[in-house]
Amino acid sequence: MHPDQLTGMIDRINSFNATPGRGITRLTFTPQYEAARRYLVEEMEALGLTVYVDDIGNLFGSLKGSDPNLPAVMAGSHIDTVNHGGRYDGVVGTVAAVESARRMIREGIKPRNPFIVAVFAEEEGSRFGQVMAGSRALTGLLDRQTLYTLTDSDGTPYSEALDSANLKNINRCPSPANIKCMLEAHIEQSVVLEQRSKVLGIVQSIAGIQQATVTIEGTANHAGATPMAMRSDALAAAAEMITAIEDVGSRRAGPSTVATVGNIDCEPNVSNVISGLCRFSLDVRDSDAEILTDAVSGIRSLCSDISERRGVEVTFTEKPRTEPVTLSRSIGQIFEESARKRNLPYMWMPSGAVHDAAVMAQVTEVGMLFVPSRKGRSHVPEEFTAEEDILAGVEVFSDAVISLCGGS
Ligand SMILES: [Zn+2]
Repeated sequence: MHPDQLTGMIDRINSFNATPGRGITRLTFTPQYEAARRYLVEEMEALGLTVYVDDIGNLFGSLKGSDPNLPAVMAGSHIDTVNHGGRYDGVVGTVAAVESARRMIREGIKPRNPFIVAVFAEEEGSRFGQVMAGSRALTGLLDRQTLYTLTDSDGTPYSEALDSANLKNINRCPSPANIKCMLEAHIEQSVVLEQRSKVLGIVQSIAGIQQATVTIEGTANHAGATPMAMRSDALAAAAEMITAIEDVGSRRAGPSTVATVGNIDCEPNVSNVISGLCRFSLDVRDSDAEILTDAVSGIRSLCSDISERRGVEVTFTEKPRTEPVTLSRSIGQIFEESARKRNLPYMWMPSGAVHDAAVMAQVTEVGMLFVPSRKGRSHVPEEFTAEEDILAGVEVFSDAVISLCGGS
């Protein structure tokens, strides 16, 4: 593995950025995204991979196997970011996949199974509002019609953004039935590896996630003239609900439950008017499907109690749920064997963040490898993973790719 090549690729992808100096912003199908994709196409074509896109906007680079009838080993991640995000989320996994192909070619390793690099579209959901849209559409969890009609904040539909994107190679979609397994490397986005002084995390499970928008309707009224007992204050009700939600996450649900309200807006949002309408986001996660269901229904019933007591109306608009998944133990053991051989400190761990790999796990065997995030920070400009940790991760990752491809 050549460290310069690896960091060169990461730097190059991040040179395509809509917000220089203020983190990385590279939203799906924007000019920055297209430039980064074109760069990846060039890199993969230079390696001799066959490059194509599907009708979703996912990008693939395929390396022939000596037995083309065998199902493919897939590896990849995403290159879209959140607004003002970091340099490593998604990029590390994309680079790890391309570097695995490069290593096989450089070392003259002939894979038996075909190997496919995958760059999934719209993982973050930052432009069209649905996370992992590309992988969910590929696996059939999200139908094309729903995908195409998603719109961005300017009202541009997905289909139109996809059409105007520059890549219109061959439309070919790898059939999920023809994928032997899928591997993703990713930054941890938490503090566990750093705190335990481990370089690698072998992911055992990925948390399921239920998101929703909670809307509270009260009555907007004069802040001076309306007695406290006669109010239907949407914002005050929201405040009580948010505290109750935090309580469900920290005390009432399971040990791995997390519940977050990260976004709120209220109307009319004026200092001397009682709020008549308030909307906030809800994000609940757990690696156990039943606990996740219980946590969400617990939150719903607490919020409806609060709304009744306060004389406001509450409605929940739930987004499609992502189920928790257990990842492949045997692929984890391949990572483990390689980490041991290379003398790299590792641990087995769950993932609280959801990734394309979690979606792919609905249709194939999946393995995931984490590298440390400094101070656990991610989705911010300060996101950082040391070069030597990325290098170690890519080495172990490519060992596993070669082993699963039956490389010789
Ligand atoms: Zn990611």
